[in-house]
Amino acid sequence: MDIGHFINGKMVKGTSGQQGDIMNPATGEVQYKVDLASAAEMNAAIEAAAAAQPAWGAKNPQVRGRVMMAMVGLINRDMDKLAEALSREHGKTIPDAKGDVQRGLEVVEYCIGAAELLKGEYTVGAGTGIDMYSMRQPLGVVGSIMPFNFPAMMPLWHIAPALACGNAVVLKPSERDPSVPMMLAALFVEAGLPEGVFQVVNGKNEAVDALLDNDIIQGVSFVGSTPVAQYIYSRATANGKRAQCFGGAKNHMIIMPDADMDQAADAIVGAGFGAAGERCMAISVAVPVGEGTADRLLEKLVPRVEKLRVAPYTDGDDVDYGPVVSAEAKERILGLIQSGVDQGATLVVDNRDFKLQGYENGFFVGPHLFDNVTTDMDIYKTEIFGPVVCTVRAETYDDALKMVMDHDYGNGTAIFTRDGDTARDYASRVNVGMVGINVPVPVPLAYHTFGGWKKSMFGDLNQHGPDSFKFYSRTKTVTSRWPSGIKEGGEFHFKAIDD
Ligand code: NAD
Repeated sequence: MDIGHFINGKMVKGTSGQQGDIMNPATGEVQYKVDLASAAEMNAAIEAAAAAQPAWGAKNPQVRGRVMMAMVGLINRDMDKLAEALSREHGKTIPDAKGDVQRGLEVVEYCIGAAELLKGEYTVGAGTGIDMYSMRQPLGVVGSIMPFNFPAMMPLWHIAPALACGNAVVLKPSERDPSVPMMLAALFVEAGLPEGVFQVVNGKNEAVDALLDNDIIQGVSFVGSTPVAQYIYSRATANGKRAQCFGGAKNHMIIMPDADMDQAADAIVGAGFGAAGERCMAISVAVPVGEGTADRLLEKLVPRVEKLRVAPYTDGDDVDYGPVVSAEAKERILGLIQSGVDQGATLVVDNRDFKLQGYENGFFVGPHLFDNVTTDMDIYKTEIFGPVVCTVRAETYDDALKMVMDHDYGNGTAIFTRDGDTARDYASRVNVGMVGINVPVPVPLAYHTFGGWKKSMFGDLNQHGPDSFKFYSRTKTVTSRWPSGIKEGGEFHFKAIDD
C-alpha cells in the first residue's frame, strides 16, 4: 500500500523513482513507502492547480462554504478511520489522534462562514458622486508545508481557509505521516471540491524548494521547526510571495506559591507528557516561584510522572502516550537528556533505560523530569520535543517573568495562581503569543487565531480565525464615480459634479 500523490482528484504514483519509509514507531519496522516528488512533479502539480483555480475562485463564497459543510459531515463519518491511520504512522494514542482530527475539523466548521468572513467594506459618498468599496479576492495558488506532529489538524488549519477564500492549494505533508492528508484530499473531492483545486504532493526538500521557487505560487504557509521556518520564510519572501512560517517552542509554566498544587501537577503531566511531548504547545519548562514552592510541586509531580503508562496505541485507551516519531528523534531526545545530566541538572525521574517488552525496537522514550535546571543548559535552551520536563526554580515572580521574556521562543506559556492581579500582569507583560491562566495548553479555538512570537513565528498573520482569511485573500479597493446624468434629446450628458 505505497502512497503516491493526490493530483487532479485521485492518487497517482510518483515518477521520480525516490521513496521514503513510513515507519511503525511502535515496532521500528517499515510499514510501507511514500513516493517523494521531484521538482518537475511539484511544478506539474502546481500548474494543474493553477488551471483549476479560476473556476473555483469565481464561485460565490456560499458555494465554497457548502463544500466545507459537507466536509464536516464526512470527517465526522470517517473519524475512526482517520484516527487509526494517524496513530498507525504517528504513534499517538487514539483519543489523542481523534483530538488532532477534531481540532482541524473545528477550523473547517469555521470556514462554512466564508461568505460572512469575506464580506467587503463600502463607503457611500466618499466624495461628490463617488463611492468606494473594497473586496477580498483569492491569491491564486498557495502552498502549504506541514509538520509530522499534527497530520490532520495542521493541514486542515491551512487548507480549509485557503480553499474557502477561493484559492487552489498544493500541500506538502510531512514525509513521515502522509496518509491522513491523502485521505482528507479524497474527502474534499467527495464533499464537492472540483478536481485539481487541492493537490497533495509528497516529498522532501527538493519538492519544497520547487514550490518556493515557482512563480505561480502566491502564498506559502509553513509549520515546523524554527531553522526550517526561517529558511522557508526567507526564500519565499525573497521570491516575492507572502509567507507565514510557524516554528518551534519552549513553553514555560509559572507556578506561583498560591497555586493549587494538585491542579498544577496534573496540568504539567498532561501538557508536558501528552503525545510524548511532541506538541508545539507542550509545557516543557516548569517554573515554581518562591521558597518551598518547587518542593511542594515536585512532591505532587514525581509520583504522577512515575505512574505514566507508555505503550503502543493498540494497547487501549488507558495508554498515556506512545512512541516518538522516529529513531533519530529518540536518539536526539536521549542525547539531550544525557547533556542535562552532564551539565549538572538533577534527573528526578530517570527512564533512560526504558524498554517495552515486545517492542524493544520501537521508538519509546520513558518520561523524564529534571530539577535544578539553569538557563545556560542545553536542555533549557533547546526544544527537546519529547517526554521531558525541566524544572527551573525562580526566587521571585519578576525573575520568572524575565526568564520567559529572555527565551528565544514565544509560542505559548501558562501561569498557575489564585491571584488575579499577578495573572493579569503576566498576561499583559509577557512577550509570548498565547497565554494560559490556570490553563496549561492555551490553544485558541478556531474563531480566534493561533500564533507565537519571537522565533516561534516568522510573518505577521496567524493561523485560523480572521487572520487566516486575511492571509489567504488580498484586498482590492474600487473607487467609482456615477455622476447623475440628464437626458437631452435622447443623449446622455453628465451633470457637472458641483451642480
Ligand atoms: P521539520 O521542520 O523537520 O519539518 C516540517 C516540514 O518541513 C516537513 O514537511 C519537512 O519535509 C519540511 N522540511 C524539513 N527540512 C526541510 C528543508 N531543509 N528544506 C525544505 N523543507 C524541509 O518539523 P517536524 O519535525 O515535522 O515538526 C516538529 C516541529 O514543528 C517542532 O519544532 C514543533 O514545535 C513545530 N510545530 C510548530 C507549530 C506552530 O504552530 N508553531 C505547530 C506544530 C509543530
